[in-house]
Parts: sequence; structure tokens; C-alpha cells
Amino acid sequence: MSQRTLSETKNVTGSKSFAPPIGFRFGAVAAGVKEAGGVRKDLALIASEIPCAAAGVVTVNKMCAAPIRYSATRFPGTGIRAIVANSGNANALTGPVGAADERAVATAVAKALGVGADDVLTASTGGIGIRMPVERITAAAPALVAALGDDVAIAAEAIRTTDLRTKLAFRELELGGKTVRFAAIAKGSGMIHPQMATMLCFITTDARVAPETLQRALVSAVDETFNTITVDGDMSTNDTVIALANGASGAPAIEPGSAAEKTLEATLTSLCADLAKAIAADGEGASKLFIVDVAGVPEREMARDLARAVAGGSLVKSGIFGGDPSWGRILAALGARIGARDYPIDPAGVTLDVQGVRVYGDGGPVAFDKDDLSARMRSTEISARMDLGLGKASARALGCDLTFDYVKINAEYYSGPKSSLDAANGKHTSGPVNRPVIVEALSYIRKFAGKRAVIKYGGAAMIDPALKRSFAEEMVLLQSAGLKPVIVHGGGPEITKTLEKMGRKSEFADGQRITGAEEVRVVEMVLTGRINTEIVGLINSLGGNAIGLSGKDGRLLIASKLETAPGKTDLGFVGEIDAVNADLLDMFLERGYMPVISPVGFGLDGASYNINADVAAGEIASACGAERLIFLTDVAGILDDKGNLLSEVKAADLEAQLGKSIKGGMHVKAQAVLDALAGGVRAVHIVDGRAPHSVVAELFTDHGVGTLVT
Ligand code: ADP
Ligand code: MG
Repeated sequence: MSQRTLSETKNVTGSKSFAPPIGFRFGAVAAGVKEAGGVRKDLALIASEIPCAAAGVVTVNKMCAAPIRYSATRFPGTGIRAIVANSGNANALTGPVGAADERAVATAVAKALGVGADDVLTASTGGIGIRMPVERITAAAPALVAALGDDVAIAAEAIRTTDLRTKLAFRELELGGKTVRFAAIAKGSGMIHPQMATMLCFITTDARVAPETLQRALVSAVDETFNTITVDGDMSTNDTVIALANGASGAPAIEPGSAAEKTLEATLTSLCADLAKAIAADGEGASKLFIVDVAGVPEREMARDLARAVAGGSLVKSGIFGGDPSWGRILAALGARIGARDYPIDPAGVTLDVQGVRVYGDGGPVAFDKDDLSARMRSTEISARMDLGLGKASARALGCDLTFDYVKINAEYYSGPKSSLDAANGKHTSGPVNRPVIVEALSYIRKFAGKRAVIKYGGAAMIDPALKRSFAEEMVLLQSAGLKPVIVHGGGPEITKTLEKMGRKSEFADGQRITGAEEVRVVEMVLTGRINTEIVGLINSLGGNAIGLSGKDGRLLIASKLETAPGKTDLGFVGEIDAVNADLLDMFLERGYMPVISPVGFGLDGASYNINADVAAGEIASACGAERLIFLTDVAGILDDKGNLLSEVKAADLEAQLGKSIKGGMHVKAQAVLDALAGGVRAVHIVDGRAPHSVVAELFTDHGVGTLVT
């Protein structure tokens, strides 16, 4: 028996290359679940031509939603023909109408399919405490059935809510000479905790298997996978995992106690494991998957509980977001849970490995290579492994980091009644809003709201496509949080490349490009014509409000030729800034635009000048009264003479190191930093642009990630 793995959890637009199990069809329509006339597909249908064996696992939340109450009566069972699932409304906590609405939807879909209403299962996900627009959903039933086809991804997309990714997984087995297929879709990102998530997962297979056997295999798979996810500690009302098997493959039945049963269990487990990882990694706003293993404890349940406690700890999670190994926080979370639960174990002998690096053991911290671990912490998958050496049991918990985006998503995703009138009518409010975290982040937002920040954009963050996108997303996020970003970009490598294509060599003196008449035309073409428009386009395509400006536009950067000191090489059209037109920036900033500036200077003689982007950023920050100046570069920050990152440094100490531990490109930057501080900028940050979200991590966490100069 062989197993082939096909799994897709990225932005899937079509899955035609994966054949679904025989006899199953998938479809979706926009039924206007959230609002009448909504264009997003929000109603999904999975239908089998043949009655199916059904197994299911549902939330243990006692306030569970209406669809779950019905479905739970059918597991394990036979004769199931379809699952209809909507996103946008959870049909939970709406009172007695919830159950009637659930059956009305099932009945309408059953009628359109020509099957019995009892044989249609339903599932819902979305806002809690608001009645479903049941008429709109039932009216969409015929179109939903007409939309059925073999594209699994369409159904997967329609069940998304705050999910950033569509989640699908496929498997194929050879069994008795026949191919047996599995296709599964899932949704889930927030409210994910041990007892499953606000997650839905529907597994279809053309295997032939009795409901009880399927149920056993599914329970075991869910226990090993979805039940290990923890994102924010809230347990959802709607969690549902359903498996349907229709036997259409023609393969022999999977008998209890057979090798095939083991294979079935292993297949369901690996299928669910893929989806569970995808859900954890897609935790609302998450930027990193966090895998916690606890080993060496006496009992499995204890291992599980401890792993979850660590994976779910807010301090640990924010540390992981900040790229900190967080070993103290991890061990504190472990110890706290042992104490709170009164477990009869002593963790004194624990070892802790973060990203495979031993950071704690032999009763104390272990010296480790800081730079090496910092580099490893930049991964999007972070592992923490503890061994208490006190037994044989172990367990894993999957979680994610706690990010600024998490708060943003949950602060905006309002799920309660719209008015106090609704509440007075007996509807309950119960949303996924995590108050303490919001209060904490709000204090940062308040601190920066309305303030200006100049960001020097350069290095890898301007070259790598994924980093480019995440930079643009970050700028949009900062803008929507009330900060007023001004971007000043560089473009050296691109200029060099373009000159090369033209058969010209780039020459430098003292870190500055020797810029002849031909070179300055290329500088302008590349910086203003190409790079600037690309940045502006990307930010605006993501919902931002950027405006591209060169130093010539509106006389933004008035410049003159940088005079060469006696004995030094003449740099040609390299300029220095004489004046910044702050009025022009005020005008755009006050109207909510995000200026994106290419550092080409305007000479009063009509010439264009090549201006160092670090210098331009510093001058612009002083001129426009920026609170902050942030440099994105290709090092972790300013390093000391031993190569260690300086996380905080005073201007005077920085000045003392100029030309000593600070050289080359960093010397230019450091001089710009000092000038900006002298020009009234409150604080300057130098952060690593090679990792995503460094600006947010620096500004919105207490410890930051780069170098802070004050
Ligand atoms: P950017 O493209 O962001 O302007 P540069 O290459 O001009 O980057 O400047 C950063 C470089 O400065 C680093 O890659 C490093 O080689 C050099 N450098 C010199 N001294 C230091 C220091 N003390 N700390 C960090 N980087 C330094
Ligand atoms: Mg530079």
C-alpha cells in the first residue's frame, strides 16, 4: 500500500490538477450571508451521488451552534448525501430560531439536490449572536446545486472568514488494486484552542468503510492534530470536523483490525496534520508558526497540557513575534502551569532547545551563539522543545506568534448585536475580542497616532518580491493605525545593473557613486521612473494612499553640487540638500497621503543631482517634524566592535564610534542619524529589512528588534 501526498495550503485559485474522490462534487455561490448583495462566495456545498458513511467530531463548547446540535446526532451514521456550509454567520446564540433556521437551510438544499433533508448536514462559521438571513440562503440553494463541479478549491474558498489562505489537502492510496482518494478542505485562523478552533474541516473519500470504523479513525486523527492547535485561547461555538466516505472507488471495504484500517487512520492523521499546521500558521495576523514539544513527563495528558500552556502564553507569543528566543518566558509558562495544576513533578532538570539550539540545561542557562540563534529566529517556523527527563510521555502543541495584526483583525471583526436594543431583546454578545491585548496595542497606537515617521527603504526589502510585498503591507497597516509614514527609497544596486546593461561601469569614491552626466540620467530614470512608481503601485494596490514624488516635484529637495574636498575625487552630479519644501509634504500628509520620495535633487540651475538616500531621509525627517526615522537595511542594526547588535545607543556614544566600529555604508547612515536627532527627530531606529515586519516589530513591541538611537 502506498500513499501519495498532495497538499495545498497556499493561495489556491484552482485545484483541477487534484482529482477529487469519485462521486463527490463541490460548489459555492455568493448568497449574501453577511449582507444582501454581497459578492463574496459564502455558501459552499459538498455533495455525493451515493449515500455516505459519516463520522464527525464537534466542539465541546456548551454554547455550541445550531448546526452542530443537529450534526452531532448523526455521527457515526449512514445515508448522508451532502454538507452545506456558510461563512459570515455562525448561527450560534440566536435562541430557538437557530435550530429552525438550520433545518430550513438543509431542507432547501435537499430539495434542490433531490435527497432527504435528514441526509444533509450543515455547518456555519462567522459572527455570533445575529440571526442568519435564512431566506437569502434558501433562495440560493438551486444556484448552489447548479454550481457543483469537481473544483474542490471553490468550496474551500467559500468557507473562509478571516483566513488569509485557502486550505486544501489531498491524498491517494492504492488499496486492493484500486485508487482511493481523499480531498479535504478546512478553514480556521482565530479563536483556535486545544479543543479545536473556529475551524471547519470536511473530508471526503471514496473509500468503503463502516461509519464506526471511520469514526474511530477520525477521532484519533483529530486528537493528534486539530486538538493540538492553540492560537488565542478562546474556544469556538462552531468547530466541526466531518468525514464522509461513499465507497465509490470500488476498493475493498476497510475492515476493523486490518492493516487497511491502520492506513486509513494514518492517512486521515497526515491529512489533518497538514491542515492543522496551515490553520496554526494562519492564526489571525500570525507571522510565524510556533511548534512546542514537551517530552519526558509521566503522563500524556500532562505533556499535552504543558505544551498548550507554553504555546498559548501571550508573553511567549509576543516574544516569538519579536524574534526573541524567549527562553525565560517559555520556562516561566511551563513552571506556572505545573504550579497552577499542582502537578507532582519538579522541572529543575528541564532542557530547552529553541530552533534546535540548547538554551537551558543542567539547571541553568546555556551559553549559545546569539547571532546564530537570532538568524534562526527569523524563520517562519519556530520550534521550542522541552525535556523534563521525568517520564516517557510527550506531546506537541501548535500555535503562532501574537502580532499587532491579530489585534487589528479582532478589533474590526465585530460579531455581537448591532445595538443595545438587540441585546435587550435577549440576544447575547459573545465575540472573539481579547480585551487586554487590545488595550496594550491601543496604547502603542495612541502613542503614534497622527505622528510622522520617515522610513528609509533600501536593501533586500527592495529586491525580494515577498519582502517588497510585506513592506508595502506594513506601510498600509501603519497608515491605517494612524501613523503618517513618509518613505524615502534608495536604488543603488538597480542603478548599477542598468548601467551595466548599457555597458558602463559604476565607480565609487568614499561610498558615493561617481555620477557623470550620463549616470545622472540613469539614476533619475531608475529611481523616479522605475523604482518609485513600483513602490507606489504596490502600496496602493494593497489599499494604501501613496503618492510618488521626486525631489524635483514641487521643488521638494533643492540641491547643489556637493563640493569635493581638496585632493578628493570629483563626484560629478552628486548633490547635497540645501532646502526641503516641507510645505509640500505638510499638504500631502494633512490630506492623508503617504509620500514616497525618490532622492533626486533639484538644482536651481535646472540640473538633477544624485543624493544619498540615507542623507535625504535624515534631512526630510528633520524638515517635516518627524517623530521617528527608521532605516531598513541588510544588517540586524548597528553592531559593536565585537559584532554584537546594539539594541539601544545614545547619540554621543554613536558619534564616538564613527570611523571606528562604524564604517562604510553604516558611517553614512550614522551621520544622517546624528543630523536628524540634532534636527529634532525624537528617536531613530535601524532595523533589519531582510525579515518581514521589522518596522512594526520595532515600533510596537517593548524590546524592539533593531537598534534604537536617542
Ligand atoms: P543600505 O543599503 O541600507 O544603505 P549599506 O550597505 O550602505 O546599506 O550600509 C550598511 C553596511 O554598513 C552593512 O552591511 C555593513 O557592511 C556596514 N557596516 C560598517 N560598520 C557597521 C556597524 N558598526 N554596524 C553595522 N553595519 C556596519
Ligand atoms: Mg547605503
